[in-house]
Amino acid sequence: MDNDQLLCSEDLYRLSLERFYKVADYLHIDPGIREKLAVVKREITVNFPVKMDDGQYKVFTGFRVQHDIARGPAKGGMRYHPAVCLEEVRALAMLMTWKCAVVNIPFGGAKGGIKCNPKTMSEGEIERMTRRYTSEIIMFIGPETDIPAPDMYTDSKVMGWIMDTYSMQKGFSVPGVVTGKPLSIGGSLGRSGATGRGCVNCISSAAEHLNMNLKGRTVSLQGFGKVGNEAAQLLDEMGCKIIAVGDSKGGVFNGKGLNLADLLKHKRESGSVVEFRDADTISSTDVLEIPCDILIPAALESQIWEGNADKIQAKIIAEAANGPTTPMADEILDERGIFVIPDILANAGGVIVSYFEWVQNIQEYFWPEERISSELNRILSDSFKKVLETSQKEKISMKMAAYCLGVDRVVQATKDRGIYP
Ligand code: NAD
Repeated sequence: MDNDQLLCSEDLYRLSLERFYKVADYLHIDPGIREKLAVVKREITVNFPVKMDDGQYKVFTGFRVQHDIARGPAKGGMRYHPAVCLEEVRALAMLMTWKCAVVNIPFGGAKGGIKCNPKTMSEGEIERMTRRYTSEIIMFIGPETDIPAPDMYTDSKVMGWIMDTYSMQKGFSVPGVVTGKPLSIGGSLGRSGATGRGCVNCISSAAEHLNMNLKGRTVSLQGFGKVGNEAAQLLDEMGCKIIAVGDSKGGVFNGKGLNLADLLKHKRESGSVVEFRDADTISSTDVLEIPCDILIPAALESQIWEGNADKIQAKIIAEAANGPTTPMADEILDERGIFVIPDILANAGGVIVSYFEWVQNIQEYFWPEERISSELNRILSDSFKKVLETSQKEKISMKMAAYCLGVDRVVQATKDRGIYP
C-alpha cells in the first residue's frame, strides 16, 4: 500500500508550538511578542471546482498561510498531498519563518498546499487545479508579498503554471511571484538541486567538526524525491556508500552499497525503489533504524518520534525533511549523543537559492552558476558555524541552537519595527 494515503499531520502545529515555547522560555521573550509569534499572521482556505478528464467536477481544498513577515516578504513551498491540512500548513509556515531567519535571508515564512493525490491525476488535471488554486489565492501572493516555491509533489512545471496564471491576471510577466520555475521563464541556475546540495554541504561541515572522513561512510535515506535523490547522488560521488533508501511504497537495503544509477532507473520505470534487484526489501520506517553513519530523513514530518528515537543507530542525522523529528525525540537523540543537523539549517539550501532567484528576477540580471554555488556554500557554512558556536557556548543541542538563533532574529526585527499604529 502507498503510505501517502495513511498520514495526516494535524499534530505538527502542536509540536511546532511546543518547540517554539521551549525556545521562547529559554530566550525569555517578551510575552506580547511570544503571543504574536505563536499564531500565524494570515491564512486562507479555498474550496474550488476543477473539471476532471472524465468531464465531472471535483472540489479541492487548498490553503496558503503566512506566519510572519517582520523580516521580509513571506516565502514558502506549495505541497500537493492527500494529508495536507490547515494545521500542517500553519506549522510549515512557522518553520519557514525560523529557517529564513537562521540563514539570515530577508524573508518571512509562508506555506501552501492542496489536499489531493497528484499520483492519481493526469497532468492536465494537475494543471487546471494549479491554475484555479492560483487564481483563488491571487490577492495573497506576489513578488513583494508572498512567493511560493516547490515542495512535496510539486516541481518547476507547477511553478511555471502559477507564474503564468498570475502574470495573465496582471497583464504582464511577473517572474518573481514564484521561485523554482523553469530556466526559460526566469528560473535560476542551481535551484533544482539546491536543497539536496545544501544538505550535503551541512553534512560536510558536521563531518569536519566530528573529525569524520566521509569516504566509505554508510548512508541511509528516507525519501528519494527531489531532495533525497540529489543528496544521495552527491554523497555517492564523494565516496559514501548508500546502503538503504525508502520511499512512500517501501524501502531497499544492501550493506555493500546500492548502485544509485540503476536504482534511479528502476524508480523512474516502476515508480518506486521497491523490488530493486541486488537489494533486500525493508519498510520505509526500517530505513531509519538501519545501522549507518549518516541518516537523512527526506520525506514527511514526525518520522522520528519517541517510539523509534532510541533505535536510531546513525552518528549524524541530517534533517532534509521539514520537521522530521518530534520534540520528545529531539531530547532522546540529544541524550544519546547523536549529532543532528536541524531541519531549518539542513534543508535551507532551497530557500537560499530561491532568494537568489528572486533577487535575479527583481534585478532582471542573471548570475552564473559558480556565483550561485559559492554564495550558497558561504551562507550555509557561515550559518552552520554560527549554530555550532551557539550550541557549544550555551551548552544546548544543535536543534535548540538553530531555533534560538532564528527566533531571536525574528524577535529583534519585530522589536525594531515596533507595533503599528
Ligand atoms: P518530493 O515530492 O520530490 O519527494 C518526496 C519523497 O518522499 C518521495 O520519494 C516519496 O516517495 C517519499 N515519501 C512520501 N511519503 C513517504 C512515506 N510515508 N515514507 C517514506 N517516504 C515517503 O519532495 P521533496 O521536494 O524531495 O521534499 C522532501 C522533504 O524535503 C519534504 O519534507 C519537504 O518539505 C522538504 N523540503 C523540500 C525542499 C525543496 O526544495 N523541494 C526544500 C526544503 C525542504
